[in-house]
Amino acid sequence: AAQPLVDRVALVTGASSGIGEATALALAGAGASVAIGARRTDRLESLAGRLREGGARVLPLELDVTDEQACADAVRRTRAELGGLDVLVNNAGVMLLGTIAGADPGDWRRMMDTNVLGLMYMTHAALDGMVEQGSGDIVNMSSVAGRTARKGAGVYNASKWAVNAFSESLRQEVTGRGVRVSLVEPGAVTTELTSHITQPEAKVASERMHAGMRALEADDIARAVVYVVSQPAHVAVNEVLVRPTGQE
Ligand code: NDP
Repeated sequence: AAQPLVDRVALVTGASSGIGEATALALAGAGASVAIGARRTDRLESLAGRLREGGARVLPLELDVTDEQACADAVRRTRAELGGLDVLVNNAGVMLLGTIAGADPGDWRRMMDTNVLGLMYMTHAALDGMVEQGSGDIVNMSSVAGRTARKGAGVYNASKWAVNAFSESLRQEVTGRGVRVSLVEPGAVTTELTSHITQPEAKVASERMHAGMRALEADDIARAVVYVVSQPAHVAVNEVLVRPTGQE
């Protein structure tokens, strides 16, 4: 297979399952060294084993992106142990769907802390080095929910709209200095994402929505990430929206 990412180092957050895990495998398959971050270190260790079997250099990192210091440490260790940082995939996220009335504001804090502040902390930690080297990719995992608001998804929508606004502002800030900022916006993908929903009706509705169509697989999104970061330096793929064909 073609290996467009040889000599590049990537860090993927939320790599212990779903889209992040598939993205780590796809980036390594394209030749990159990969740092894989998440809280469930047992899952990271087994992924690290698979990546090493495939011949990749890999660094598992226990990482809670809501912890600003942990984000800085993850970036520092990646640079020290893998020799650089060229691609940051801000993928870690939670989707605690539900109505606004009657919601547990704890769900709101988890979503905003993880999807928004966590992504900002990681970006902040990685950015100076990328600007200094005059190159780098920051790929932010948004969602169809970052473009279209719907009832029953208010705070998840708010978190992903925040991701889109932050990404576009950052893009303008650093594009002249060789750093690319990209949004990947999946529709329904079969992962563990819906399993964490706390409002019972919202969980049932979400599972029914996924079951009613042939949803995407995590690797379908991983290929979009590889496409984005494999472009020549003068090509910036700013935004990729990928829905299952059967999703309205
Ligand atoms: P999963 O639940 O399978 O994966 C989520 C990942 O995020 C896990 O690896 C989890 O690891 C990690 N994570 C959660 N909280 C934290 C935290 N505080 N610190 C570090 N890592 C964390 O879901 P997906 O793969 O589907 O989700 C990945 C991204 O894709 C999310 O941003 C989601 O919003 C987005 N997305 C998903 C869609 C879908 O239909 N599946 C559609 C559109 C967007 P751990 O628990 O081990 O820390």
